[in-house]
Amino acid sequence: MPISLPILPLATPGQRYSCHGCGNCCRDFTVQLRDADVVRLHAQGWEARIGCDPIVRFRGKRYLRQREDGACIFLLADGRCQVHGEFGFEAKPIACQLFPYMLAPTESTSQMGVSFACQSVVENRGKLLCDQTADALRIALRGVSEVVRPARAAPLARGRAAEPNEVESLTRHLVGWIARDAPLSERLDGLAWMSQTLASARLGGVRGTRFIELLDLLFGSLAGELPHHPLATATPRQVSLFQNAIFARTEDPKPIAHGAPGRVVSTISQLRRSRAWRRGRDAMSVPSIGVGWPIAVTFDGVAHVDRIRASTERVECDELLSRWLRTSIEGGRVWGSSYYGWSVIDGLCALTLSAAAVGWLARFHAAGSSRERPGLVDVQAAVGRIDRSAGRAVWLGGWSERMRMAYLIEQNGLRRIVAAQY
Ligand code: SF4
Repeated sequence: MPISLPILPLATPGQRYSCHGCGNCCRDFTVQLRDADVVRLHAQGWEARIGCDPIVRFRGKRYLRQREDGACIFLLADGRCQVHGEFGFEAKPIACQLFPYMLAPTESTSQMGVSFACQSVVENRGKLLCDQTADALRIALRGVSEVVRPARAAPLARGRAAEPNEVESLTRHLVGWIARDAPLSERLDGLAWMSQTLASARLGGVRGTRFIELLDLLFGSLAGELPHHPLATATPRQVSLFQNAIFARTEDPKPIAHGAPGRVVSTISQLRRSRAWRRGRDAMSVPSIGVGWPIAVTFDGVAHVDRIRASTERVECDELLSRWLRTSIEGGRVWGSSYYGWSVIDGLCALTLSAAAVGWLARFHAAGSSRERPGLVDVQAAVGRIDRSAGRAVWLGGWSERMRMAYLIEQNGLRRIVAAQY
C-alpha cells in the first residue's frame, strides 16, 4: 500500500455531488488512460468481443475509443457502462472511477476539488462533498499518482516563489470578494481588475507581510475604485483573441471509431477551426463545438442575446457562477499541479478569461433556442463545457494562451471582455 498525501476536503460550503446516472460523462468525454488502465482493459479481452481495440493512440497518449457520435465505445444503449456491468466498478479506467473528483497535490497535501463538467455538480444535487473525502481517497488509492506523489507548490508569479501565507491571503480575499453581496457583474469586473493589476505588478520586492498588506489595500478599496475606471468597448483585436480563447476552451479532438486522426491531419484541422473562430463576426456562423450545442447560429445572433444580468433567472445564474468560481479556487484547480504548473497570478488570469468564455457560451446556447436572454440552463451548459477543459487540454497550458493573456492584460482587455458578457 503506497503512503498517501493527506487529502484536504473541499472548503466550499454547500457543494454537493452524487451520481444520478445521466451518462453525460460517458457520452461526450475523451477518457485518457493510465498504464494500469491499459493493462486491465487488455486483460479483460475486449478486442475479440467488440471487434476492435478499445484503446486509441492520439498525440502520444492513449484514450478510450469513441463511437461516431463521441460516446465511449463501452456505453450501452440503456446508459450503463459495459466494463462496470461485466467486471465491476473497480475494473473501469481510473478517470471514470474518480470523476468528478479532482485532486491537486502540493508538496505535503492533496487538495480535493470537483469538476463542473458533471451535471450533478452543476445542479448541486446529492451528498455534501465535505463528507466525501474518504470516498475520494478510497478510489484514488487504486492508482492515482496525485495521491502519492507530491508536486511543487505553485509560484506566486512566474519567477517569483510564493512565501508563507501569501497564497492563503490571496485565496481568502478572492473568496471573500466572490461571496460579496454585490451584483455579479461588479464582482467579475473586480476579479478582472485584480487579475490585470497583479499580473502587471512587479512583485519581486513586495514579499511576505508587505504583499499581504498590498492585498488588504487593493481588496479594501476595490469596490470604491471600480466606478472610477470606466470601460471602453473591446477592440476588434481583443474580440478576436477572446474568440480564440473560447475555441481553445471548447476544442475537443475525438479519438473516434476509425481510430484517432494522425497528428498532421488533426493539427491542420485544428488550425483551420482556430482561424474560423478568430475571424468570426457578423453573419458568419459560429463553428460547431459538438454534441448538444447549437449549429447555424451566427456571431451576430450571439451578440443580440442580452447579458446574464438581464436573465429572468439571474439569482440562480449568479449562485451557480459564484459557486463554480469559488469551488475552482478552493479546490486547487486554478494554479499549480492541476493547472499546467502555472503560477497563482497567471492561473487567476486564466480563470477570469474562462469566466468571460462562460458568459459568451451561455449567450450562444440561448441563441440556439431563440431566447433573447440566457437562462439557467444556458449557464449550466456553458460552465460544464468550459470546466471540462480546465487543466486537461494541453494547449491551454501552452505559449499561445500565455500570449493571448499577456496582450489582454496590457490593454485592459480582460475587464472589457468580461463586462461585455455580464
Ligand atoms: S469506460 Fe464506462 S464509465 Fe468510462 S466512459 Fe466508458 S462507459 Fe463511461
